[in-house]
Amino acid sequence: MARKVLPKIYFDYAATTPVDKQVVLAMSRFWSVDFGNPSSLHSFGEKAALALRESRNRIASLIGAKANEIIFTSGGTESCNLAILGTAANFVPSKKFQPHIISTEIEHEAVLEPLRALTQKGFKVSLLKVNRLGHIDINDLEKTITPQTILISIMLANNEIGSVQPILEVVKLLNKINIERRRKNQPEILLHTDACQGFGSLEVNVQKLPVDLLTLNGGKIYGPKQSGILYVRSGVKLSPIIFGGGQEQGIRNGTENVAFAAGLALAIELSVKNREAENKRLGKLQNYLVKGLEKKSNIKLNGPEQGSGRLLNNINFSVLGVEGEALMFYLNALGVCVATGSACGTAELDKPSHVLKALGLTDKEAKSAIRVTLGKYSTMSDVKYFLKVLPKAIELVKGVSTFN
Ligand SMILES: *Cc1c(COP(=O)(O)O)cnc(C)c1O
Repeated sequence: MARKVLPKIYFDYAATTPVDKQVVLAMSRFWSVDFGNPSSLHSFGEKAALALRESRNRIASLIGAKANEIIFTSGGTESCNLAILGTAANFVPSKKFQPHIISTEIEHEAVLEPLRALTQKGFKVSLLKVNRLGHIDINDLEKTITPQTILISIMLANNEIGSVQPILEVVKLLNKINIERRRKNQPEILLHTDACQGFGSLEVNVQKLPVDLLTLNGGKIYGPKQSGILYVRSGVKLSPIIFGGGQEQGIRNGTENVAFAAGLALAIELSVKNREAENKRLGKLQNYLVKGLEKKSNIKLNGPEQGSGRLLNNINFSVLGVEGEALMFYLNALGVCVATGSACGTAELDKPSHVLKALGLTDKEAKSAIRVTLGKYSTMSDVKYFLKVLPKAIELVKGVSTFN
């Protein structure tokens, strides 16, 4: 007898998204037809430069920025590195002056690792704790700021638990402090936010959310992987971390990826256009899934509740007494692709997620976590199928059940 065909459900949109077909189409002409180098002065170059300019203008207007505030990079990791290392490079640590940077315990490695590298060079780094739901405390931040603080880097939304940080409150706090600093002729504290995870769900407009530096990538919003921007507010001085031919105002050297810039611009446009309707749709799916999980025993939901500072596409839960890794494996065998803690550290599979640990989970609870992230192609029937096969997958892990 033929085996029943398994569905193939992708529930890992926070790791990456499929590239939108319109985006693929928009990019295609830049590889072998309009392939010029935007720095070349002939007609091929002009055409590429025009396309690059159009992409830059489009992105700028979609996020409320000016065109010259958009720096194209190779994605979220590079933008975060550029924001942090490019700011740090303007300061020389000494015995008397230890430049101080504040971030949070639940940042992505793209932020934590450059910070770690800076501590080796005489910079001081403070990582803010979060509460059990994954939110920072603004009073805590205020107390952590010192006269030597140069930069604050706080993510807009978390990639593992979907908690959304009060960036606007951070902006207001810094405005107060920076007025004082300007008066005393001291360098202002810069604010960077990593918006890689938040952009698909939250309005991001640098007029309404006036940060100094903002990271955005394409691979999480149906654009190409390794595409991204760093928004750099006019007047903010940033040193390059990649040196070369002077592209991107000398802040990010190397021939621009015209195709990816065009793809990213369209991806951002579609994301902004679809955001509201998608949020509504995904919110319903999230709610249904959470309610379904709450009915099951031995399941503990991680992170904030819907409507209290959480992305609408993220669900994270621990199945007590069951290893997340093993559960993911069996769910995959049953046709559902989810993540455990974080998609990144394949070399560190055994380490519990630093984000879940920061929420106060035990190692065991953190290692039993499953992350479900929904997106454009997720449907109610996918969610129902998942809720149906989850108990089966748990039984398989526990060895009390077998396939068939
Ligand atoms: C994915 C992600 C990054 C890294 O982006 P890449 O484009 O993969 O380099 C950084 N921060 C957050 C919050 C992310 O989700």
